[in-house]
Amino acid sequence: MSIIVQKFGGTSVANADRIRHVAKLITDTYRAGNQVVVVLSAQGDTTDDLIEMANEINPHASNREMDMLLATGEQISVALCAMAIEALGCPVVSLTGWQAGVVTNTVSRAARIKRIETERLEAELNQKRIVIVTGFQGINRNEDITTLGRGGSDTSAVALAAALHADLCQIYTDVDGVYTADPRKIPDARKLDEVTYDEMLELATLGAQVLHNRSVEMAKKYNVSLEVLSSFSGNSGTIVKEVAKRMEKSYISSVAVDKNIARIALIGVPNETGTSFKVFSLLAQNNVNVDIILQGIGHEDGKDICFTVAQSDLEAAAELLKQNRERIQFNRLETNTNVAKVSVVGAGMINNPGVAAKLFEALYDVGVNINMISTSEIKISVLVDQKEADLAVEAIHEKFFQMM
Ligand code: ADP
Ligand code: ASP
Ligand code: MG
Repeated sequence: MSIIVQKFGGTSVANADRIRHVAKLITDTYRAGNQVVVVLSAQGDTTDDLIEMANEINPHASNREMDMLLATGEQISVALCAMAIEALGCPVVSLTGWQAGVVTNTVSRAARIKRIETERLEAELNQKRIVIVTGFQGINRNEDITTLGRGGSDTSAVALAAALHADLCQIYTDVDGVYTADPRKIPDARKLDEVTYDEMLELATLGAQVLHNRSVEMAKKYNVSLEVLSSFSGNSGTIVKEVAKRMEKSYISSVAVDKNIARIALIGVPNETGTSFKVFSLLAQNNVNVDIILQGIGHEDGKDICFTVAQSDLEAAAELLKQNRERIQFNRLETNTNVAKVSVVGAGMINNPGVAAKLFEALYDVGVNINMISTSEIKISVLVDQKEADLAVEAIHEKFFQMM
């Protein structure tokens, strides 16, 4: 008998028909002789709607109360799904994150799972029940409900799979798997049969929301067998694993775009030792993640430092820097939210020189200007104007994936 964890995203449980369909997939897996643990997201746009409701009452509500509110979305889905499974005649129980033993740290709205106390889950499985768990949430040491950040249900599923030593973790979503680009934006995008944990981690971090990046981090750490597939089509999906088979010639696996970023420029900082240290340690101490960094060559009038942050961190970062203007000694601070980061990812690029040149050629062909560049062993990212981002993705995708 295998333990299988199945996660269904918001679109997959959006209405009564979809829930009945998902219940059928779950009970088929159960009737095939498996122990089944299910993780659900909130229905459709419920989480967005809850955030809007909160904003109407108090746009500065505490994160603790936001977590209390946001966690309710998933509670609706699990109860409804359990009812649909009852109607199909299978034993089932729905559990909230805390009932399922999901213990997190105390960072409200971006909590990290510390451990899963599996006694209740194991007891329910031993009673031959299907267990349906709310995604995206847990409980902290103060017994407050926490949520894991947007898209966090994927991470709940992988964490449960790791804790239960599940044989497989299936992430059911609204597309057939992981593609060479977002299939909703690039109609020519192709489904990948396999992708490596490292590639998927980069892709998820660089804007491909198909998997929550922490779920991939966890799957790699605990070697969880992960499959991304559609709850609609019944087609085979994408396997995420340590080493992936590659289509011939394809040394990059996918193109991703992130529009939720902003650029900060510090103009005229002193051209002396310690300036970067002052700037970036200040940001790090205040939990602001910095991504691409560009520092110009200095001259006697000073130098400029540019970097990108998540748009949600922009206000806090700019405020911090302004408060420390005397200490850092910059002349001017400029911010720009009309930027986007476009990236190509692929484990094969290590052994294939020329990927960067090909990327730049694709952008040159369509006249897109590059503001900043950053590279790692398996990815190249460029910062472009946001209004040119879609054109850039299209051109890059065509350059790398046409006629393969
Ligand atoms: P769920 O609600 O099931 O968690 P998400 O909306 O979070 O689903 O993620 C699925 C979406 O991710 C797809 O509808 C697709 O538009 C988007 N996406 C972005 N990049 C990719 C990619 N490379 N491959 C597949 N889907 C992608
Ligand atoms: N419902 C949450 C969200 O919309 C978590 C998830 O769907 O993964 O972000
Ligand atoms: Mg998601």
